[in-house]
Amino acid sequence: MFPKDTLNVLKYVLLALSKFMTFQCGGLPHWKINFLAQYTVLLMRLFTRDKPKIKVETTKNDGFSGWLKCTHCQEMLHANELKENLNCCRKCGYHYRLSAQERVDLLADPDTFTLLFESLRSLDPLVFVDSESYPERIAKAQAKSGHTEGVLTGTCSLDGHSIAFGVMDFQFMAGSMGSVVGERLTCLIEHAIKEKLPLVIVAASGGARMQESTLSLMQMAKTSAALAKLEEAGLPFLSVLTNPTTGGVTASFASLGDIILAEPGALICFAGPRVVEQVIRQKLPPGAQKSEFLLEHGMIDGIIHRHEMKGKLSQLLDYLTGNTREYLTLHAAHK
Ligand SMILES: [Zn+2]
Repeated sequence: MFPKDTLNVLKYVLLALSKFMTFQCGGLPHWKINFLAQYTVLLMRLFTRDKPKIKVETTKNDGFSGWLKCTHCQEMLHANELKENLNCCRKCGYHYRLSAQERVDLLADPDTFTLLFESLRSLDPLVFVDSESYPERIAKAQAKSGHTEGVLTGTCSLDGHSIAFGVMDFQFMAGSMGSVVGERLTCLIEHAIKEKLPLVIVAASGGARMQESTLSLMQMAKTSAALAKLEEAGLPFLSVLTNPTTGGVTASFASLGDIILAEPGALICFAGPRVVEQVIRQKLPPGAQKSEFLLEHGMIDGIIHRHEMKGKLSQLLDYLTGNTREYLTLHAAHK
């Protein structure tokens, strides 16, 4: 409501006023007006937020902590309520991010997800250093996300369907695709071919991992080539795009799904809106590069609310693997 600078200015104005009144006008004592000034600032802070942030993890359980303001509709939400609603705003339906583990919990049947290819770890072939070294960044990302790399790959059961399942983790260096992310996904696709499993990948990525330069870009070709083999094997690939899916991930495997689904309001693009606007020197239309815009223009096949995603994937797997429940039930009844 009020930017931070306004608050600071107000605080100093009130403090200056207090000194002026105390020493020049003989008004209220200094401490009283100082207290009033501090109290006013505190009161204002209660009703303002410099930058609304959604944090879904709270350790305090009392009713006053964990209140957040939705960045889209400005509605006050409680973190626990948001978490219960799968990180979707109950008023405007805005989909906030889920961690990779939360995504696994959402889509995989309980206790069925088995991690594969966990032993693959990033090296630092370019000895890349910017403000800190690449190994340091990886160590920080591992500590922050609790995962060893930017993607979880494995097998699980989704509503009873055995699938090969990959989930990207945006918390891990913005879900960037380095050689390990590409290799794990490629191994997952090859595993799907070997075990004759349908493939589901949930993408969330800032693009290629710049610390690995060309090696990172090569993952685009590698994952795409592996998906061509999956297609030859007649196995379906369902690609789920979440906010945001950008760069080399959008430009490779994420756009190669037999069916491409997206969450509402997800940013899906190659270059982000700011970069595009700088290049073409024009303002993009409102909502450009959002999933609704892309559905209208034929780039994706459907927008599915998070609450319905598992049901929709299950339905599509039924169709694509030719094992519809109705058929099986009828078949069983005729026997
Ligand atoms: Zn909202």
